[in-house]
This record gives sequence, C-alpha cells and structure tokens, in this order.
Amino acid sequence: MSTIRSIDPSTGAEIAVFEEDSEEAVEARLAAAAAAVPQLAELGWDGRARLMRAAADLIESEIDELAGVITAEMGKPIDQSRAEVTKSAYAMRFYADNAEAFLVGRELENPAAVSASAARIRFDPLGVVLAVMPWNYPIWQVVRFAAPALMAGNAGVLKHASNVPQSAVYLGELFTRAGFPEGAFSALLIGSRRVEAVIRDPRVAAVTLTGSEGAGRAIGSAAGDVLKKAVLELGGSDPFIVMPSAQLGDAVAMAVKARTSNNGQACINAKRFIVHEDVYDDFARLFADRMAALVVGNPADPSTQVGPLATESGRKDIEELVEDAREKGASILAGGRRGDSEEGWFYEPTVIADIGPDMRLYQEEAFGPVASLYRVSSLDEALEVANNSPFGLGSAFWSNDESEIARAEREIEAGAVFVNGMTISYPELPFGGIKRSGYGRELSVEGIREFCNLKTVWVA
Ligand code: NAP
Repeated sequence: MSTIRSIDPSTGAEIAVFEEDSEEAVEARLAAAAAAVPQLAELGWDGRARLMRAAADLIESEIDELAGVITAEMGKPIDQSRAEVTKSAYAMRFYADNAEAFLVGRELENPAAVSASAARIRFDPLGVVLAVMPWNYPIWQVVRFAAPALMAGNAGVLKHASNVPQSAVYLGELFTRAGFPEGAFSALLIGSRRVEAVIRDPRVAAVTLTGSEGAGRAIGSAAGDVLKKAVLELGGSDPFIVMPSAQLGDAVAMAVKARTSNNGQACINAKRFIVHEDVYDDFARLFADRMAALVVGNPADPSTQVGPLATESGRKDIEELVEDAREKGASILAGGRRGDSEEGWFYEPTVIADIGPDMRLYQEEAFGPVASLYRVSSLDEALEVANNSPFGLGSAFWSNDESEIARAEREIEAGAVFVNGMTISYPELPFGGIKRSGYGRELSVEGIREFCNLKTVWVA
C-alpha cells in the first residue's frame, strides 16, 4: 500500500506519514456514509444545527493546534491559518442558523392553475456526496462544502489533497467528535487515481471538486459518464483593474494583499493587474516597492508575510512561467527568483511588466506570488484584456466613476466583481466561476441547494 506524506514546505522535511486506505477501509466508509443519511434526516434541522455548532466550538477550542497543522503542512503564515479556522467556524454557524430557511421550499399560491388542490417545491438531500479538495485552504475549502452539505442532510466523504493528510485526518474525525452519526462525514486517504471508482460507486450521488483544470476534466468526465451531478471550482487568473479616478494608495495596498495572501496560492488571488496609462507608472513603482518589501520567511513566525510555496513542483511551475516571460522580453520589476533560503520552497514576491501574448503568463494561472502588469489606454482596452483569459472566477475593479463601475459590473466575464476591493469569499455570498474556472456555486443559499433534489409535489 502506498503512503501519503505530510512535508513541511519551509524545510522540505517529512513531518508525518500515513498509509493509504485499503479497499476494505474505503468500502466501510462508503457503507457508513450511506447508512448515515437516514440518521441525518431523523436528526431534523435543530438536531443537525446543534451538532454543527458543536463542531464550530471544537475547531475554535483547538485553533492553536489546528492552525499549527495548516502552517506546517502547506506553509501559509500562521495568522492566516488562524483566520482560516475562525472563518470556518463562522461558516458552520452561518449554515446552522440559516439552512432551514434556505431550504424551506415554497407553496404554489394558485394551485388551481395546475389543476391541483396544493402544489409545492421542496429541497431534499441527494445522499452521499464526494468532495475532492485542494491543499491551499485545507480546512476552509472542506468546511465550505461540509457545513451546507450536512445541514441539508447529505453525508460527505472527503478525498483531500495528498500533501495535507493531517488536515484530512482531523476533518475526517471532527464531525463524529461533534456528535454527528458515524460516517456522516469521513475522509478517505486515497490517491487521485482511486477517485474515479468512488464517483462510480452507486452509493455516491454527486461530486464536488475544488482544484486545477486537469482535475476538473478528469472528475467532470467521470461524473458525466455515470450521469452524476458535479460542481467544479477550478483555477482563476483574476484581473485587478485600476482606473485613473481610483484612490491609488488604497489600490496599491490592496493589490499587494490580493496577490500575496495565502502565499499567492489562492484561486481568487488577483493575478493580472491592468492599469490605466495615466496612473500606470506610479502604480507600477509603488506596487513593485511594496512587493519587494514584504517579509518572506518561516510561516510559523508571526512577522512573516509570505511563506514558501506548498510543494516543490509548485515552485518549479512558477519558476518556469517567470523564465518563459523573461526569455521573451518581459521586464522584472521586483523579485523574479527563488528566496535566499537553501531549504524549503520559497519564491520572492514578483512583479512582471511588458507581458506579451506569446508568453505563458498571458493565459496561464500563476499559482504563487507573481503579479503580471498590463498598461492600457482606455476602459474598453482594460475590459478586453481582463476578458481575454480562459478563466472567469473573480475580479476587482478600482474606479470612482459610476458609469465605469456600471460597465465593469456588467461586462467583466467572471463569477464575481468586487468594486474598490479584492475578491474574498463570504458565507453570505455565492462563490464560483464561468469559462474554464468551472461551474456550479458554493456558499450562500445557492451553494446549499447544489446538492439537493429540487422536488416538485402536486396534490390532486
Ligand atoms: P489539484 O492538483 O487539481 O488537486 C486538487 C484535488 O484534486 C486534490 O485532492 C487532488 O488529489 C485531486 N486530483 C488531482 N488530479 C486528479 C485526477 N486526475 N482525478 C481525480 N482527482 C484528482 O489542485 P491543487 O494544486 O491542489 O490546487 C490548486 C488549484 O486549485 C488551482 O488551480 C486553484 O486555482 C484551484 N482552486 C480553485 C478554487 C475555487 O474555488 N475555484 C479554490 C481553491 C483552489 P492529489 O493531491 O492526490 O493529486
């Protein structure tokens, strides 16, 4: 049986090793998940909400240990790991408070119109849902699926990214520890090659993936082949547009945060900075200075602002993207090389200008602290550059001109437009993309309905 290893990206040292689950163990977890579905129904809204609040209390009471695991396994600065745990607890309580209202359904006001004495729609759980999750927010990404899924009455099985097995094991036990029925939410320690068999298992009703395009294709095809519902949250290369009327200092400060939070490894990090020529030179200088001044280092040290990339291959991908641009004539305004440390997978916060369509950065997602700068001469050109991407996840638009804002809101091809801010996920707002960023939505009322059967009831 193969092993799944937890490696500290700031040193490259192995910190924990787990055996992959056997076929028998996977079978037992799927059977337990299926058996948990009627028990979840029996608990009712109040019962599930009580247990969900208990799970929120648990992760909050264990925040020191849990944030430490996140930072140790994937390298994000410790303050951001703590914020991830707090946000996860908030989302659990949000769904504990709101799930029933989100899924209350509706009565048809005029049933005679459909020749009925009564007619209504209701939202019923689908059953067991498989969640294939990434390492970049190892707790939050899972909770934002698990909290609405469990509150709706679904059971969940988690296949987490192979580099965060400690987070996977923690989450696999969390909900049972909080009092949910055995099997209501569990983790399968398996590699990606074993995912398709789980999707095909007749007890699994649907699948959600957060991950790369490649994983999206594999999982979308497998689910399509067996005609099962899939939600795909994939990559992004979000534009961050700055127009002349924007407050420049605020825009620069937010641009740095939007590019480097989570060590630059968030799907909704701003990645392409599209700046009007009237303010381009000032923006570029201030942005490059601020990026170069960031403190890169040990993520467990609270003064660190940017930690290492999570994997060695992730750093190699980033290096190759930057080298490709450099060779083809791009200008490096900050960074552009590995960090000073011999150990670990550090990469300096980087700003690159003069990007051309022949460069890979023009179309590909840079999953690390590398910002691409584009100079444009009008709003039309800014929107054209923004939309000239295979992705359509989030976006940010900086301007104080109402007519420009109205156009951006309408014309940016993305699942979200944040005006004078940066794209952030909130439990209250739906989250997801278009184009090659995937399909379906998470969070808010739309997210909890994704894994429900919207059932029409007609009564003679
Ligand atoms: P990844 O390599 O696609 O992995 C994501 C998950 O998919 C992991 O559990 C992985 O398992 C599994 N997987 C990979 N290939 C698979 C395959 N062929 N069949 C079945 N499962 C497969 O992505 P990542 O490097 O962890 O995460 C980074 C990507 O996720 C970026 O593109 C980022 O933009 C995207 N992301 C999107 C969102 C969003 O909400 N839209 C949020 C966060 C991240 P193994 O680890 O075992 O390979």
